[in-house]
Amino acid sequence: MSNLINTTLLIIGGGPGGYVAAIRAGQLGIPTVLVEGASLGGTCLNIGCIPSKALIHVAEKFHALQGYDKHSALGIQVSSPTLDLERSVAWKDAIVKKLTTGVGALLKKNKVTVVQGWAHIIDGKTVDVDPVAKGKAGAPQRIRCEHLLLATGSEPVALPFMPFGGSVISSTEALSPKTLPASLAVVGGGYIGLELGTAYRKLGVKVDVIEAQDRVLPAYDAELVKPVHAALKTLGVGLHLQTQVLGLAEDGKGVRIQPAKGAEQILAAQQILVAVGRKPRSRGFGLSSLMLDMNGLAVRIDDRCHTSMNGVWAIGDLTGEPMLAHRAMAQGECVAEQIAGLTRRFMPAAIPAVCFTDPEVVTAGLSPQQAAADGLDTVEGVFPLAANGRAMTLESSDGFVRVVARRDNHLIIGWQAVGRGVSEFSASFAQSIEMGACLEDVAHTIHAHPTQSEAIQEAALRALGQAVHI
Ligand code: FAD
Ligand code: NAD
Repeated sequence: MSNLINTTLLIIGGGPGGYVAAIRAGQLGIPTVLVEGASLGGTCLNIGCIPSKALIHVAEKFHALQGYDKHSALGIQVSSPTLDLERSVAWKDAIVKKLTTGVGALLKKNKVTVVQGWAHIIDGKTVDVDPVAKGKAGAPQRIRCEHLLLATGSEPVALPFMPFGGSVISSTEALSPKTLPASLAVVGGGYIGLELGTAYRKLGVKVDVIEAQDRVLPAYDAELVKPVHAALKTLGVGLHLQTQVLGLAEDGKGVRIQPAKGAEQILAAQQILVAVGRKPRSRGFGLSSLMLDMNGLAVRIDDRCHTSMNGVWAIGDLTGEPMLAHRAMAQGECVAEQIAGLTRRFMPAAIPAVCFTDPEVVTAGLSPQQAAADGLDTVEGVFPLAANGRAMTLESSDGFVRVVARRDNHLIIGWQAVGRGVSEFSASFAQSIEMGACLEDVAHTIHAHPTQSEAIQEAALRALGQAVHI
């Protein structure tokens, strides 16, 4: 084959896992080729983390301006705002473009060869890239490598009886609306359903969330979710818990739902956002021919991010939960350094998780329930944001910070918080766990006043029976 590239590292997928691996490999002098079929930046930068947070920001601003008319005690008067949706989406797209262009520039700077096209695996050291994706017909580009890194990410799960198309949309379409629907039924009260459902509601759409479990965000502990549930109610989001979706209404203008108790109902909705999870993208590009050990659709990896085949690595959403961008990035860096000969393991003490609802939810490490299930004897400290001065000045005193530590040596093993702006606590939470901090370390660290982060210190103090401001 004439158009053959030989390289040391070949990465399939240019999302946060793949592009971070490529940049780090480039920095370490490893000849690297990155194949991407769609856009550099993957789900995260193009149709995930970044655009969703941009839309959430637009919705927050719009909602806040509306609210000042009626609700605020701050003494500010504004006339009703209007929304130019086209401009909002263009602003979001400009952020995406800036970031994805930046990734391209960093790859170039680090001498990574980027091949645009869809990769098809021939064997563990050979991949063909379909040039048709570039708009050019012709023979596939063949790439041979010593190390193959799979970073193909994930895709939304579809409901078999209500496939995507028409009024049934995934997060991708919800992030680039041309017009806003009058009403939106959201199937799934998890990350996407609540982040985007809240944003749409704040933009004035009538929103109903249908969740199969008995609470929204069922992956988090019940106490943590209560303020989110209450805020959704206040916002006017309809919550249909313990409810199954049966399919589209006959006229297509809504969904048929079956609550755990009571009769089947029709929930009218102009659009239906299905957000019932994502699945690893492991089919349709020859991966199965490698006969790797799998966990369902996810590629099974060890603590080096190595698969069951010599020289084949896998990272990110392709390897299953937690499907988070920062996990994918950390794994990418870990693999690149091993290929460069460094000794690395992917064994984080904690992977923080944030749900950008209003209020936000953030966790790192174990919840009290998870610690108990692991047989650990723990102490906990909870500090309410209602007792934090800065939270009051920000009108965000709903929520709390909780710390979980071992009773015997006070080693911190978990943090949880719910409240406005608490996503920024994720760094402090993860650092304290990763560095093996004890309650005393956090309790005796001076936290700046007045900040919401004082609640972190107070939670640690409270676990020691020494809280000052409560
Ligand atoms: P991806 O980002 O999915 O990238 C995989 C890339 O591989 C894609 O670009 C794809 O085109 C390419 N590819 C696949 N197959 C091939 C092939 N055969 N040939 C060539 N290229 C291929 N996570 C967070 O941590 N925080 C958030 O706030 C957050 N918000 C999210 C919001 C939404 C709406 C969604 C959908 C996801 C969100 N996530 C968030 C999850 C996050 O986007 C993923 O965890 C992350 O993108 C996974 O990175 P990855 O590199 O594993 O895969
Ligand atoms: P999710 O797993 O967070 O939530 C899916 C929800 O749908 C769950 O609560 C589940 O009980 C419910 N559900 C499943 N089947 C159902 C059915 N038939 N009817 C009603 N409810 C049903 O999944 P998601 O919201 O689609 O997000 C996918 C993934 O993307 C997340 O798991 C996360 O890894 C990632 N993500 C992360 C962030 C973030 O970090 N802030 C934001 C968005 C997405």
